[in-house]
Amino acid sequence: MNIHDVTNGGIVNYNIIRNPWLFMVFKDSTTRRLSIIEALEKAKQAHLAYSNPMDRVAVFRFLLAAMYWCWKETAVPIQGDRIPKEWVDYLEGKADLFEFLGEGKRFMQRSGLSRLRPASELIHEIPKGNNFWHFYHIRDYTAGICTHCMVSGTLRLPLFFVSGRPNLKSGINGSPPIYAIRWGKNLWDTICLNWQPREDLGEPIWVEPYRYKPEEKVPLLSGMTVPARLLYIDDPILDDRPCCVCGERPGSLHYTCKFEAAGTLENPNWRDPFEIRSAEKTTKASDITGTKKLKYDVKTHRLLPHIMDSMNVKPGDRILLVGFAVDKAKYVDIWERVIRVPKEKIAEDSIELLSNLHKSIKQTASNTYLPNRKARKDRAKKLKESLQNDLLPDAESKVDKLMKEYLAGELTFDAIASVYSKYTRTAARMLVTGISSKQISDRNLIAYSLPKAITENDSGKKQ
Ligand SMILES: [Zn+2]
Repeated sequence: MNIHDVTNGGIVNYNIIRNPWLFMVFKDSTTRRLSIIEALEKAKQAHLAYSNPMDRVAVFRFLLAAMYWCWKETAVPIQGDRIPKEWVDYLEGKADLFEFLGEGKRFMQRSGLSRLRPASELIHEIPKGNNFWHFYHIRDYTAGICTHCMVSGTLRLPLFFVSGRPNLKSGINGSPPIYAIRWGKNLWDTICLNWQPREDLGEPIWVEPYRYKPEEKVPLLSGMTVPARLLYIDDPILDDRPCCVCGERPGSLHYTCKFEAAGTLENPNWRDPFEIRSAEKTTKASDITGTKKLKYDVKTHRLLPHIMDSMNVKPGDRILLVGFAVDKAKYVDIWERVIRVPKEKIAEDSIELLSNLHKSIKQTASNTYLPNRKARKDRAKKLKESLQNDLLPDAESKVDKLMKEYLAGELTFDAIASVYSKYTRTAARMLVTGISSKQISDRNLIAYSLPKAITENDSGKKQ
């Protein structure tokens, strides 16, 4: 169905339940856009196909909230191997609450707003405005976005937003936490794996306007669906150019929206169903532009014990982690990692060693520069930054791949540590040149200095 098929007397209609906007990938690797009804009916055969992890998390979270709502309203339990027909029928019967365009009440939008902004405001990854550091740059108001992508952009509003400008606050979570979701083989599995309704579900935003003050207890559905901004999407304009997000040519594109502050939503009592807590705090992604430390921005290892505690991880789980780093009003970057938990068992000792891996690496990095500290202070400092930012992220991604075997207890710490040899050997060659016996000895010291296993009880100091 094309957007023009639903044009009614010059008014563009687009319904979240009936129109095919959900991007799904099937077992045979074909992709298609489906309506929610079709997606739920085929939930066993397909999964969400968004390349940007923000959309995967946002769209899944919306679907899960919708399923909680159907479960509450129909009193039909989740069971068997498919979404209950009663839920699908209920959703279809309530389709009028999910009108995304048109003249009546709109899904997750508010009429009467006046602050005009480009439609691209909803899509973080588009290089635009004063975000200059891209070869391909898009001008605000001149890049069109299709309605399908505007839907997923709107669904990001409860999860991924920034604060900083006067009155423009972040959402209910404050600056976004690192989200962790059990990611199943297909949409149905993923819904089942994350099915944890709370006693007090409340009402989602499409039923009841958000009415909670920052100190009040917020029911699950209200908290999961409250957007960080008030939004009204201006109608699409006939345009045969491609959407600047997905590249499809639906025949009409959105260029503008109205976008305003939604007041203070950040709530210290709210516990997001997908957040990871560490020492009673929500974990957040680091701003790598501030620390200049690419090597430590993705906290997969350090988070491991907290993920195990917060999520009650079981053998065979596959956990999708998504971090959205922000600096007040600036989006810095988005990253994703998948932790594959072995099917058989989880080696508890490995969790502690992996969670302290960053300390081991830090210690190695310091030792690496010891012979040069006095003689080549400036050169060593610059090289250290460059080497660490270039080579350590490469090593960390390899460790992520080895993590499954390590969690199964099949790998030694030495195998993990050897991944860092490329880094230390390159450092040795770059930092110490020459053939005197002192230089050769210094070079060898650096080249063979690999991370040593340390546990929580070790001091972590240089040796
Ligand atoms: Zn698009």
